[in-house]
Amino acid sequence: MKLPKEQILEIFRDTKALLEGHFQLTSGMHSPQYFQCARVLQFPKYLHLLCGEIARHFGYNEVEVVLSPAIGGIVVGTEVGRMLGARTIFAERKDGKMELRRGFEILPGERVLVVEDVVTTGGSTKEVIDLVKIAKGSLVGTGCIVDRSNGKVQFDTKQFAVLQMEVVAHQPADCPMCKSGSEAIKPGSRGNY
Ligand SMILES: [Zn+2]
Repeated sequence: MKLPKEQILEIFRDTKALLEGHFQLTSGMHSPQYFQCARVLQFPKYLHLLCGEIARHFGYNEVEVVLSPAIGGIVVGTEVGRMLGARTIFAERKDGKMELRRGFEILPGERVLVVEDVVTTGGSTKEVIDLVKIAKGSLVGTGCIVDRSNGKVQFDTKQFAVLQMEVVAHQPADCPMCKSGSEAIKPGSRGNY
């Protein structure tokens, strides 16, 4: 059974992975929420709980390799790989391009599950899927903890998100919180992060 959305949101709030207020995101947009997945994944019981959802979803797919994009995906990939008993590797950017380094490889026909912590635009996940295709691996699907596109990003394979969550964002000029006189906080400044 899938974890209820409210229970997951409560864990995110408790661990301060999800902050509510008035934030300026790195994109410059203003949002009533700020989400930092690493904050919840630092706790082994939550890492286990959330990754367990992905592992269970793909548990009958004979996954041989779990592949994730660095850096955020690594901890999720490692836990999912451990639970599935699958070899676990990661891809990382070199000169802006996602690559398998450190002697990591995908053998032709190997059954590969791609996992990520957070999908926003799906860019990193798509690049990692391409690595599987180039290596002639067999793509089982993709799994993530949080899909911030609320299901809009599609990968043309089986996909699973533990939680779908829409990003609410406003241009500063149109921000209702600014209009009500509050000031946006940049996460990372003023000791908030
Ligand atoms: Zn604002």
